[in-house]
Amino acid sequence: MDAMTARAHELARGGRLPAFVYDLDGLAAHAAAVRLALGEVELYYAVKANPDPELLAVLARQVDGFEVSSGGELAHVARVLPGARVAFGGPGKTDVELRAAAGTHRVHVESPGELRRLLAMGVAADVLLRVNLDVPIAGASLAMGGGATPFGMDPAGVDECVSLLAGQEGVRLRGVHAHLASGLDADDLLGLAEAVLAYARGLGVTEINLGGGMAVSYADPADLFDWVAYGEGLAKLRRRGETLRVEPGRALTVYCGRYATRVIDVKRVYGELFAVVAGGTHHIRTPATKGHDQPVVPSASGEPVTIVGQLCTPKDQLAARVPIALAPGDVVEFAMAGAYAWNISHHDFLMHPHPAFSYVGSSTGGSCRSEPASGLATGT
Ligand SMILES: *Cc1c(COP(=O)(O)O)cnc(C)c1O
Repeated sequence: MDAMTARAHELARGGRLPAFVYDLDGLAAHAAAVRLALGEVELYYAVKANPDPELLAVLARQVDGFEVSSGGELAHVARVLPGARVAFGGPGKTDVELRAAAGTHRVHVESPGELRRLLAMGVAADVLLRVNLDVPIAGASLAMGGGATPFGMDPAGVDECVSLLAGQEGVRLRGVHAHLASGLDADDLLGLAEAVLAYARGLGVTEINLGGGMAVSYADPADLFDWVAYGEGLAKLRRRGETLRVEPGRALTVYCGRYATRVIDVKRVYGELFAVVAGGTHHIRTPATKGHDQPVVPSASGEPVTIVGQLCTPKDQLAARVPIALAPGDVVEFAMAGAYAWNISHHDFLMHPHPAFSYVGSSTGGSCRSEPASGLATGT
């Protein structure tokens, strides 16, 4: 039994399931390996993947900065990690957000209209222009570029921004930003990087943020993104004097979290076996949004059983026909729950209680609370 499973059982005995259990040492080791593989390339963490303060504190020791996509995320990072370097991106920045963004390390400009509003404020800022290149994007799970989307600008939009920036000094053009797709392997991302770098060089800028989107496999959790090949590839593409930066979210934190719960009921309906567990997709919406089976941590094998939550909707399914033996009262753990899980879920649908949040690892000595302290500074 590993430390996370041990914690899940401890929580079960205390009546504290469902819970998210985070492995802080595992996260620290993973982030350190990514950092090492990237060499000279700067590493930012995309906070929207999981803003849990304990995770941010661990990541702060490995990353060069944090990418935020809202005023809320900016205030959160400033509270949890005062002084951390931040880049502010995201479509639809309000004037209040733009003004706050101007005070960060980099503003990722999403449109000429947004840049006009920033210039009209008369504040100083360092900007990257977010470009959506018309390049083929095959095999992505989500595409933010490679055609008409609301993310960033086409090259004509970028040209318009470059003209707007000419002849003034307050807002400085630092380079380009591109986050074109998510769910790509190292080879595909390197292909995109090559296109983005060629574009940036044409524009005459030397700072290039290549975005996130590194693939993870929910079907095969052991199939990790090849950070070493990616780092080596970027080192080859990079020219002297250029600053390259990446901003992954999912591939950094997804592995460090589990959603642990217990079986309430097991039943057979028209021959098919179902296990109903406490909680469900209102805590971990990931399997519903991505249409996958959330991987179950191995336990005694048995007849295939479909694991569902407590919601009154057929969409509340966590995993279909998993070959494990389950009985009421058993603890079930779902892996790969460290990113886009609790924080993207519809917590209050049906008004069930929120899960507990528990942290395994030397980073905290093991703590537990009933909310992920989203509004609290925990410090470390
Ligand atoms: C969501 C997002 C990321 C992180 O994407 P992952 O797929 O979680 O790595 C990075 N940059 C931008 C601009 C994003 O919107």
